[in-house]
Amino acid sequence: MGSNFTLPQYERRVLSTLNADGTRRWITPREVTGRFWKCRFVLAWSLIVLFAALPWVRIAGKPAMLFDVVSRQFTVAGTTFRPTETLLLALVMLFIFVAVFLVTALLGRVWCGWGCPQTVYLEFLYRPIERLLLGGGYHTRDRSVSAVRRLAMYALFLVLSAHLANTFLAYFVGTDQLTVWTMHAPSRHPVAFGVFATTVALMMFNFTFFREQMCTIVCPYGRMQSALLDQDSLVIGYDAQRGEPRAKGSQRQAMAAAGSMAGDCIECTMCVQVCPTGIDIRDGLQLECINCAQCIDACDSVMRKLKKPTGLIRYSTTHRLGGQAAKHVRYRLVIYPILMLAISAALVTLLVRRPSALVEQARLTGVNFIDAGEGRIETPIRLLIENRTDAARTYTVTATGDLQLIGATTPLNVPASDAQSIDLMVVAPANSFHRGSRTGQLAVHDDAQFSTTVDIAIVGPFSAPSTAKSASEGHTP
Ligand code: SF4
Ligand code: SF4
Repeated sequence: MGSNFTLPQYERRVLSTLNADGTRRWITPREVTGRFWKCRFVLAWSLIVLFAALPWVRIAGKPAMLFDVVSRQFTVAGTTFRPTETLLLALVMLFIFVAVFLVTALLGRVWCGWGCPQTVYLEFLYRPIERLLLGGGYHTRDRSVSAVRRLAMYALFLVLSAHLANTFLAYFVGTDQLTVWTMHAPSRHPVAFGVFATTVALMMFNFTFFREQMCTIVCPYGRMQSALLDQDSLVIGYDAQRGEPRAKGSQRQAMAAAGSMAGDCIECTMCVQVCPTGIDIRDGLQLECINCAQCIDACDSVMRKLKKPTGLIRYSTTHRLGGQAAKHVRYRLVIYPILMLAISAALVTLLVRRPSALVEQARLTGVNFIDAGEGRIETPIRLLIENRTDAARTYTVTATGDLQLIGATTPLNVPASDAQSIDLMVVAPANSFHRGSRTGQLAVHDDAQFSTTVDIAIVGPFSAPSTAKSASEGHTP
């Protein structure tokens, strides 16, 4: 490491995480400080605290963020969305996607280098621990470091990974459920413990072994960069016009003696040594670059020592680095905001018109109807009532038109943000059926202000039965 560092030499370009023979090239980025690193440090630790605290925050008694996949409910900022609100969820997802496209077109991969949990935890938690216990320049698998130090590092990584797994799971099962699981022996919740143990194992695999390959090989956002960026997006780039021809000390003197001027790059390779994905930014914009700005800090410190202007590597755009003027009109910067405005308008309209309950007929298989005689057909139906409010509600169902309801019916109590079904027996005139079915409407209202009518389909006889006194049964296929 340090002065022993030599740039990898390949005949053809290979992944920065591979050696030419296909084996893993372990990246041990050199420690760096500088203005961007200091800003990232403050942001990273704010995010670490935020990521850990958010599942515990309550808004109006509900989690600030909960993606309850099992019951398919999503709570964001204290508002719960159920799977029936697919259009709303689809619009939210679409808005997020377009917002990501817009931010990337403007600021490039700012998320990757500054906010992504992969970068935040790796560079500001795991990597510092590794440097502390193994020393700079050694990686987790280095056998040259004492076993005690490596064991201590893995023990700390395990504790951290368990904490991260708990934090991660809290977003999906909620802190209440997680506390119950944590308090009990694993044997009482074997499935939950299995999920937890698997998550810890995945965290350990990622942060001790896989590392930067998550960004360079797996992450779909990273793979999409070539489509999302344009020549005027903010990127981190090397100013080749100023830096080239690059040359080391003796070469510079030889060039000066020959009457030619070397560029500002002194070929110290510090920008490569600090890069967490192992690339050389002087080769141009690359998919592996996560815009962490560590090469800027490293090069700026070299330039300061040489008493030259900083910014040989800097935040800029491909156009500006190539000496071209920035484009005034970028179509994607017009289209994305228009799309976001349209989606926002649709979202607001949906939210304003969002009813406080959803009532719909649920499917009943193998439905029987009963010929109750005297021209009356009795058919069971099932209604699903979803209470979308934050308080328990009592719902009453009444028949309309020529329908009647009999048997145990309503009122039905439905807890806040919950859904329940109710089975009803609908009575309809036998001669109102056509080819084995008919439609009708039921009125539903709650104990607050909600009221609606719901269309229902009722199965019955194919032809009107005779008005016999005794009841008989039929069924739909
Ligand atoms: S840190 Fe700056 S001077 Fe050193 S090799 Fe990189 S670009 Fe050149
Ligand atoms: S090239 Fe620079 S900005 Fe890109 S990942 Fe490497 S150090 Fe970070």
